[in-house]
Amino acid sequence: MKLYNTLTRKVEEFEPLHPPKVGLYTCGPTVYDYEHIGHGRKYVYDDILKRTLSYFEYEVKHVQNVTDVGHLVSDADEGEDKLEKGARKHGLTVWEVVDFFTKHFYDSMDKFNIQRPNIIAKATEHIPAQIKLVSQLVDKGYAYDTPEAVYFNVSKFKNYGSLDPQKMEEKKVGVRKEVQTGDHKRNPADFALWFKRVGRFEDHIMHWDSPWGAGFPGWHIECSAMSMKYLGSTIDIHTGGVDHISVHHPNEIAQSEAVTRRPFVNYWVHHEMLLVDGRKMSKSLGNVYRIEDIIAKGFEPLDLRYLYLTAHYRKQQNFNWEALKSARTARLRLVKTISQWDSPKTSCAQLEKSFAQAIGDDLNMPEALAVLWETVNSDYPTGAKHASVLKMDKVLGLQLDKVSYGRLEFKNLPDKIQKLVQKREEYRKQKEWKQADILRGEISKHGYEVEDMGASSAVYAKDKSVK
Ligand code: AMP
Ligand code: ZN
Repeated sequence: MKLYNTLTRKVEEFEPLHPPKVGLYTCGPTVYDYEHIGHGRKYVYDDILKRTLSYFEYEVKHVQNVTDVGHLVSDADEGEDKLEKGARKHGLTVWEVVDFFTKHFYDSMDKFNIQRPNIIAKATEHIPAQIKLVSQLVDKGYAYDTPEAVYFNVSKFKNYGSLDPQKMEEKKVGVRKEVQTGDHKRNPADFALWFKRVGRFEDHIMHWDSPWGAGFPGWHIECSAMSMKYLGSTIDIHTGGVDHISVHHPNEIAQSEAVTRRPFVNYWVHHEMLLVDGRKMSKSLGNVYRIEDIIAKGFEPLDLRYLYLTAHYRKQQNFNWEALKSARTARLRLVKTISQWDSPKTSCAQLEKSFAQAIGDDLNMPEALAVLWETVNSDYPTGAKHASVLKMDKVLGLQLDKVSYGRLEFKNLPDKIQKLVQKREEYRKQKEWKQADILRGEISKHGYEVEDMGASSAVYAKDKSVK
């Protein structure tokens, strides 16, 4: 299979160090607030990558970090620690915040049918490993101690910023502000490995003892320490959003390679952003949607998963409700068609080959979806198509083996559902779309799906066992 490697800026044939084993590290969430649908896109594509590797019979060991240590958005940020801010906002302690949002994050990822990582590594549970790595960097002369923090000295690391050479130049100039604010940094791009509990962090809640006094680790060091611990000094694949190409990942490379003197990562995979109505998601624009917002409007998380698949991961994707509606229509058509087919028999080899070509071509999911539909619409016997489609779904993850919408006679529906469907039809007649959507969600919560058929509705059970 082929993958685009940010390190070389080329699509390359993927060759793991120790086939069939593959070490995969995916930068995980910072657990101080609810995740949004942009995060969903990133983690669904990590899942697609992992499933594609498994499709090609690689044995993937997947490690993901959870940043549950308070830190700043960047060293240059003069604001408050994210976790402490999150704790105040939600009326919880920092420890309660990280517990709550870590659980919430993985529960949400389950809803997208994302396979859980083999190892979920929490930063707070790996403090000694991070301290050890910082000590090694100090001993080797790559890091220096100052009154406020231990910093990594980027001028000592020869290829610093090789992942993104253009941005590096801007960055060296861009962070001068910190130098002016009295930090003891030697170079503007130097970054903190260990913050001390002094000055603005005097009351920092989370802190641990270290050779440099009480404090807490900088953000980047956890990924190096934990990936080395679980995946060795060189990782096959490391992923993250494109926003990490200019700071977080160059810092991970520098602090890891300075100690191991080996390449930290062989293939860097970076996901593009999800936009909403053509704009970056932001609280001030009020366009930050969560998975709960999707469900409240009567959509299934799998509708959103389908939508994610329609855009290549290296392209920006635009979210709007119309696009999500089209994704839902397509997914329902798929599920309904398949539920009428014969049980799976010998599959369609030629179409499966085209599918493998698409996913092996730098995860070309829009093309893979096209092959899926070609299969669905082909003249092959339905038993054969069924076998192929289920095989493809091992990568797509649309749960086509589980969901099956059998249309139900209105009179056979439970009373409660009949009432909800009738009420919804009234709303639709009066063009009260918002209310109709809310009721769709209500019906969906009970395990049924409605489809508009002119003035009336068709109702389907989402679970095979509901008759
Ligand atoms: P965060 O915890 O917000 O730093 O983000 C965790 C991961 O989600 C990072 O790899 C980000 O690049 C990614 N991410 C954040 N926002 C978006 C977005 N709007 N679209 C896609 N990925 C995102
Ligand atoms: Zn990371």
